[in-house]
Amino acid sequence: MEPFIRHDQVIFIEKQMKQIIDGQQKHLPKSVMRALTEEAHFKIEAQFIRLTEEQRQLIDFTRYENKEMYLEQIKACELDFPVVTLAELKKLLPKYKKLKVPEELAANTKRSYLGFDDVRSHQKVIVAEIAGELCAIAGHFIDKHQKNICAFCGCTNEVVYFTAKTHARDPKNPDYYKTISHLICKDSEVCNAHLTDLTKLHDYMEEVLKK
Ligand SMILES: [Zn+2]
Repeated sequence: MEPFIRHDQVIFIEKQMKQIIDGQQKHLPKSVMRALTEEAHFKIEAQFIRLTEEQRQLIDFTRYENKEMYLEQIKACELDFPVVTLAELKKLLPKYKKLKVPEELAANTKRSYLGFDDVRSHQKVIVAEIAGELCAIAGHFIDKHQKNICAFCGCTNEVVYFTAKTHARDPKNPDYYKTISHLICKDSEVCNAHLTDLTKLHDYMEEVLKK
């Protein structure tokens, strides 16, 4: 089958399956398990705007005795994150001419967004696909050396304080551009492993990029 599942949806489905498996291991009463199963089934379907009959069957975990096998099927239909070339980065972030995607990240195509630190410019770079278009922002960051809630994935992980400049003037100081800061996961691959909803990431990027 053609890939049709985004990375955040794969993570979402994995989390739902974990709850079901946990429930089975705890030997929850049948009625509770039935309610859990129905809810998970509903939530997974609600992740998708449109499904063909074949796709609907594939995401229906109740058809699989073995949940591991189900997750394998899901992963086999995961969409790839686009390969971000040097030329593309130059086009997206013309101010930072020598940006390079670290090799260890370039090989992985299963993610919701690409995030890496550029040592040369002391910037964190974030690349995501919004409405089918590749977008990128760069901003400086302060390592907080502590765990806190990430503004993108909502999970408690090692965070940095990330600040990006928008194209809007700062109302308090019109000589400067407004900046927006958030605590976000220090390691974007960790963030990707928790991200089940792209809204906050995309809203933030759109606000930074708005002209
Ligand atoms: Zn995160």
